[in-house]
Amino acid sequence: MRLVSVAVPVPAIDALTYRVPDGLVIPVTGARVLVPLGTRVLTGVALGTPKVNSETPSEQVKDLIDILDEQPFLPADVLRLVQWVSNYYACGAGEALASAMPPRAWIESERHARITDLGRERQADETGVRAEVLAKLSNDKPARVDTLATRKGVFSTLTALEREGLIEITRPLKGTASAFRTVRVATLTLSEIAPRGARQVEAVERLRGAPLGIDTAALASGGISAATLKRLVDVGAVAIHRRTVERDPFEQQATLPVVARKPVTLTDEQTNAFQQLRAWSEAGTFHCVLLHGVTGSGKTELYLRLADAVRRSGRGVLLLVPEIALTPAVAALFRGAFGERVAIQHSGLSDGERHDQWHRIRRGEVDVVVGTRSAVFAPVTNVGLVIVDEEHDGSYKQEETPRYHGRDVAVVRGQQAGALVVLGSATPSMESFHNAQKGRYRLVSIQRRVLDRPMAAVRIVDMREEYAANGPDVILSAALVSALGDRAAKKEQSIVLLNRRGFATVVFCRQCAHTLECPNCSVSLTVHKAIRRARCHYCNHSMTVPTRCANCAGPYLEQLGFGTERVEAEIRGLFPEARIARVDRDTVRRRGAITGLLSRFADGGLDILVGTQMIAKGHDFPRVTLVGVISADVGLGMADFRAGERTFQLLTQVAGRAGRGDLLGEAIVQTLYPTHYSIRHACRQDYAGFFADEIDFRQRMKYPPVIAMINAVVKARTREGAMADATDIVRALRWGSEPYRVLGPAPAPLSRLKGEHRAQFFIKGSHRASMRKALVAALEARPEIRRRTIVDVDPMSVL
Ligand code: ADP
Ligand code: ZN
Repeated sequence: MRLVSVAVPVPAIDALTYRVPDGLVIPVTGARVLVPLGTRVLTGVALGTPKVNSETPSEQVKDLIDILDEQPFLPADVLRLVQWVSNYYACGAGEALASAMPPRAWIESERHARITDLGRERQADETGVRAEVLAKLSNDKPARVDTLATRKGVFSTLTALEREGLIEITRPLKGTASAFRTVRVATLTLSEIAPRGARQVEAVERLRGAPLGIDTAALASGGISAATLKRLVDVGAVAIHRRTVERDPFEQQATLPVVARKPVTLTDEQTNAFQQLRAWSEAGTFHCVLLHGVTGSGKTELYLRLADAVRRSGRGVLLLVPEIALTPAVAALFRGAFGERVAIQHSGLSDGERHDQWHRIRRGEVDVVVGTRSAVFAPVTNVGLVIVDEEHDGSYKQEETPRYHGRDVAVVRGQQAGALVVLGSATPSMESFHNAQKGRYRLVSIQRRVLDRPMAAVRIVDMREEYAANGPDVILSAALVSALGDRAAKKEQSIVLLNRRGFATVVFCRQCAHTLECPNCSVSLTVHKAIRRARCHYCNHSMTVPTRCANCAGPYLEQLGFGTERVEAEIRGLFPEARIARVDRDTVRRRGAITGLLSRFADGGLDILVGTQMIAKGHDFPRVTLVGVISADVGLGMADFRAGERTFQLLTQVAGRAGRGDLLGEAIVQTLYPTHYSIRHACRQDYAGFFADEIDFRQRMKYPPVIAMINAVVKARTREGAMADATDIVRALRWGSEPYRVLGPAPAPLSRLKGEHRAQFFIKGSHRASMRKALVAALEARPEIRRRTIVDVDPMSVL
C-alpha cells in the first residue's frame, strides 16, 4: 500500500496517514494535497512516507482525493523549520504549517444541502425541525449547512433527512489551486488591416505600439470600449487572452516612504563590528551574534551593509522587525537600498498582495525580505543572513497557537541554513544576553552613539515628594511642566510616555467600595472619556459610564487612576498653543493612522507626542530633545517575572529617543519607586548593571533564562472545573523522579478572561524536551481537557 503522511491545519492533531489511490502519483514532499477529514475536505501538505506505524489498521486509512502541486509548494527548508516549530512548541504539525503558508493556499469544502424530488413529495407530511429544514430548501437553491444549523438538533435532523433521501448533501470546494489575479489582454494579430472609424483607428494605433498587448481595462479607461474591441476581434484583427499579473507590491507600499540613504562614514566601533560580522557571514556556516549597541549607535547602517554584502554573494537575506507601522524607517531604508529585489511584508497588505509577494519570493525574484514575526517563514532561497532588529521586543512572540517566538525560530532557521544570525538591540532580552555570556552566541557591542552624541541626561522625579508638596492629584510634576514649557518656547519637540491608555483606570464607589468590573474578565473597566464609555482592555466589552453604583445605587462614584487620554488633556490645558497628538491603540485603530501621525511628528507638524510603548520603539526623530515618562513603574505591579525586564527596556528605549540629532537630549522619569533596580539602571542606561541584578533574581526564583519553563493554562466554564482539570493533568505529570518541577495549579493572575475561568501551572526544569514530552503525553490521555488547554513553551507573559 502506498502511504503518505499529511499535515492538516486542524488544532492539536499530528500528521495523518493517507493512502495514495491508483491513478495518482505519490505526491512530492511539500506539495499540497486534498484529503478527507471527518465530513470535510481539507488542504494539507504532504510530508513524505509515514514513519512505520503499524497501529493504524489499513482499512481505516482513507484515500487522498487529489494532489494540487507537482513541485513542492513549500521549499524543503521551510518545511523543516515548520516541523521544528511544531515539535518545540508542542502544537499540531498543520497548525505550525499554517503560519508558513501564504493566504489563499488552502482549499476547503463547504457542505451544501439541497432538497430532492422525494423530499419535495414528502414535505407536506413533515412536522417540526424536519419541516422547517425542508421549507428552507424548497426554493430549490442549495444552502450552506452551517447557515441551516442555527440551533441544536438540526445537524442530526440533516443527517436523518439525508439518510432517508429527502435531501442531498454535497461538498463543493471553495477556493482555487491558484489565486493569481488575471487580466484580459488585447494584442494585434494582423498587421495589415483597415480599421473603420476613429475609435478603431485609435485602438489599432495603440496596440501597434505594444507588442505584448494591453490590459483591456486600461484600454477602456482610455476610451476604447469593449464593443470596439469586439468588432476588431470579430474581423480577426485582435486577440484577447488572459494573463496572470501581480498586484503591484510597490504600488501598495506607497504608504511606506522610500528613504534615500545618506552616505556616512562608519565610526570606529561600527567599522569593527561590521568587519567581524562580515567575516562570519562569509564563513558560510552558522553563527549567532548578539549585536548590543546603545540607542543611536547606528545599527541600521550595519544591517544595510551586511545585507548588501550577503546579497551580492548570492544568498538571501531576512530582516525581522517588531512592527513595520511603528518603525517604518528601517523598512523604508531597505526599500531605498534594494528596490525591486526587496519584499516588505506589513500589516497594511491585502491577502491578495501578500499572496503575490509570497510567490514572488518563492520564484526567487526577491533576495531580501523585510517583515514581522511570520516573515521568518518566508520562502527565500539559500538564506545567508537573518537579522532580528530589536530582538527583545515582545511582539516577536505569537500569543496564539502556534505560540512561537520569531527570534528563536530565526536562530533555528539560520542554524539549519548555515547562515549568520544577527540579533540587534540596545536592551537585549535576558535570554539572548545569557546565551552570549554562556558562549552560545557571540557578543558584539557598540557602546557609543554615532558622532559621539551624548546619551540623554536622565532625571528621576520622586512622586512621593511631589505629592507631599503639591497634593495627591498631580499628574505632571513641576520639573516636567517646566521642561515642556522650555521646549515649546525653543520650538523643540517632546515625547511623553505613559504605558496605560484611557482616561481613568478605575470607577470606584465611595459609599460601598465597589469597583466597576468587566462581566467577562477579572479586571476593572477603563474610562474612555472621548467616547464616554467604560471599556475592558481584554475583551472589548464596553458600557456607558454609570452615574450610580451598580452595587449600592449610591451616586458617589469616583474615577481613579489615569491613562494617556488624561495626560493628553492635562498637557493641552497647560499648553493650549502646542500641537499635540496621542498615539495609543485607541487613536491608531485605523490602518495607516499611525504612519500618518508619526510622519507628521517627524516633519515638525507636531510639538508633543503623548503615547504608550508604541512611541518608545526604534524611532529616529532628530528634533526630540525631551522625553517625559509618567508613572515609570506602571508595569512593575504585574504578577509577571518579566515585569522588571520590560520596565527596564521600555525606559531605556524611550530615553533613547531623546538627543538623536545635533541637540542635547534630556529625559524626566516620574516614579513612586525611584530606588527600584529596573528604574535606577534604566536612568543610567546601564545594561550591564541591570543584567547582573536581574539574572540574580531569576537565579534565586528559578525563572528563565536560568531554567526552561512551560506555562499551561486550563480554561473551563467554572473556577472549580478549571482547577479540577488542571489538578488532574498536574497529577499525571508527577510520577516521582521526573527531571522537572511542577508548580501549581492555581487560578491564573487573570483568573477570568472572556467569560472563561483559568487555572494555571508551570513546569520548570533544565531539560525542555522531557518537560514537553511529559505534558503532551498527559494531555493526550485527556483529549477533552487538551482542547481547552493553552501550552506555552518559553512564555513571554504568564498572566
Ligand atoms: P540605532 O538603531 O542603533 O538606535 P540608527 O541606526 O537609527 O541607530 O542610527 C541613528 C542615526 O545615526 C540615524 O539617523 C543614522 O542615519 C545615523 N548614522 C548611522 N551611522 C552613522 C555614521 N557613521 N555617521 C553619521 N550618522 C550615522
Ligand atoms: Zn473583559
